[in-house]
Amino acid sequence: MPCYIEHMPDGGVAFLCGDLGPHCAAEGCGASTGYLCDYPVGDGRTCDLPLCASHAYEVAPEVHYCPGHLVLWQEFRRSGGVQHELENVVPYKGR
Ligand SMILES: [Zn+2]
Ligand SMILES: [Zn+2]
Repeated sequence: MPCYIEHMPDGGVAFLCGDLGPHCAAEGCGASTGYLCDYPVGDGRTCDLPLCASHAYEVAPEVHYCPGHLVLWQEFRRSGGVQHELENVVPYKGR
């Protein structure tokens, strides 16, 4: 039976054992997960790394990124990537 390490808000640690799904994918974290990374990786798919509540970084409502993809996202935004993408959106006119 898999065991999980839960970090409590008060700084304590609790052990949980049971079939609670995958462990958090963040390095050194063994918590149970309730989130998946929503970072797009192409082909309409997302990263899908399992994440615990403290490693699922909410970048938009209901959109969570893993620690690695959060860094990519922040760099993307800093480089003006979002602005650039929006400027590239052209209305669909059909043929
Ligand atoms: Zn975690
Ligand atoms: Zn990810």
